[in-house]
Amino acid sequence: MASAEIPTVSLNNGTTIPQLGFGVYQVPPDETERAVLTAFEAGYRHIDTAQMYQNEAGVGRALRSSGLAREDVYITTKLNNDSHEPAVARAALEQSLRELDVEQVDLFLIHWPLPTRYGGDYVSTWRTLTELAAEGKAASVGVSNFHPEHLKRIVDETGIVPAINQIEVHPYLTNEEARLASGRLDVAVEAWSPIAQGAVLDDPVLVELAEKYGKTPAQVTLRWHIERGDIIFPKSVTPERVKENADIFDFSLTADEVNRITGLDKGEEGRTGPNPDTFDWIPGA
Ligand code: NAD
Repeated sequence: MASAEIPTVSLNNGTTIPQLGFGVYQVPPDETERAVLTAFEAGYRHIDTAQMYQNEAGVGRALRSSGLAREDVYITTKLNNDSHEPAVARAALEQSLRELDVEQVDLFLIHWPLPTRYGGDYVSTWRTLTELAAEGKAASVGVSNFHPEHLKRIVDETGIVPAINQIEVHPYLTNEEARLASGRLDVAVEAWSPIAQGAVLDDPVLVELAEKYGKTPAQVTLRWHIERGDIIFPKSVTPERVKENADIFDFSLTADEVNRITGLDKGEEGRTGPNPDTFDWIPGA
């Protein structure tokens, strides 16, 4: 699959991002270079990592050994939960740039709002990220796991709208409220755990549609995200699956089929990760 087939999404700051990328959550540090190289070979040009994943250096090594030009690969990283204080956030991004061996990341996100930590002040953290963007350390900045009220607060208090909100979205947690709140502010949505770490793949609706199109339930689910306009980066360390997850641009679902999949939503019961309102984990704390 040629990377030219992967559509791009335009962000509110005039930049673009490939709609399909490769996520490296839970990829062990010593396997990351190989996994990312496999993704590059399959045509991916967008890598989603985080300081918390401890594998940014492997992403950097893959970028160098691939021989790809820096401007041809979109790299996202995210601020760790122990680094929200402005001076610490600045140092953390500098460390990421060293690990990744790049001068600028394409996208830097606040990983979690942590409303019960830091005196509830994720606004200063957001302001710091906007300063880092102005200084050229990140081409775009945004947030992750922000509920509508978190998003509203940073925009109200700083007047600066994030480029992206990366949130959990899949057929069992369609997260419409957060998607719509993001869309109203012209914030692009990234859907993390797009196949719910595999939990949706036995669903009869997805199995039926997979049979109809000669695709797998994973491919049908990923195609559903693409048609809803969300940005995705499924993760796999199995080369066949890495290729399979990118082979989703030669078929399309009807509007009714997209709605049927959206109708599988289980609300909070479908959530696989923590709720951002209460999640307060800090490494080493
Ligand atoms: P995912 O939904 O991408 O599922 C990954 C798992 O599904 C794999 O480990 C594998 O077991 C299985 N799988 C992958 N492809 C398959 C296929 N074709 N057929 C069958 N099984 C398959 O879950 P994820 O890794 O949690 O999410 C994707 C990315 O989203 C992460 O790597 C990370 O970059 C990002 N993420 C962000 C946050 C956040 O808080 N911002 C949280 C979780 C994940």
